[in-house]
Amino acid sequence: MRASIVCCVGFDMETIVETTEYLPDEAATLAFAQRFAAVVSSPCSVALVGDLGAGKTTFVRGVLRALGVTGAIKSPTYALVESYDTAKGEVHHLDAYRIESVDDFEARGGFEYFESSSIRFVEWPGRLHGAVSFDLELKFDFENEGRRVTISPRTTSDASVKLTPHVLDERGSQR
Ligand code: ADP
Ligand code: MG
Repeated sequence: MRASIVCCVGFDMETIVETTEYLPDEAATLAFAQRFAAVVSSPCSVALVGDLGAGKTTFVRGVLRALGVTGAIKSPTYALVESYDTAKGEVHHLDAYRIESVDDFEARGGFEYFESSSIRFVEWPGRLHGAVSFDLELKFDFENEGRRVTISPRTTSDASVKLTPHVLDERGSQR
């Protein structure tokens, strides 16, 4: 199934479905990221789940490029966060891998990135032990030579989310 997604405030939660897509190579991950970028809107918090090398950072890089970021895109593993001005406003890319506790996250100012309207992508969200609420989860699994991405809603936040299969056509525009 082609994974498609609409994430924005104002939709009902009723029509949410989980959707999954096989990504045979890096180009497929980047193409998926481009389609995601076309439909995501601020504010939105996205949990990126998956083992080391599963493609979380590759995905965010693809989203940022699609949103017009042309400069260097660094993995935020050491800095905790890298922030960008994009076509859809501020995007924060966080990596909680080195976070020791929720207190540690707070001490580093991590919660501030969730206060004003922005799009946030968080790698290793489990390190935050539920202290941050997410609209969506994107899970990347190794499968054969490629990866499988599964999108599912996280219903703990105020923002409404709608996931609909086949919302997008091949070019990423909405039907
Ligand atoms: P993570 O942030 O999850 O640790 P990275 O994005 O840093 O992972 O690294 C993922 C690696 O896998 C990169 O070498 C990238 O080229 C590769 N990759 C990304 N997507 C795919 C895919 N769909 N199939 C095969 N390899 C992929
Ligand atoms: Mg990474």
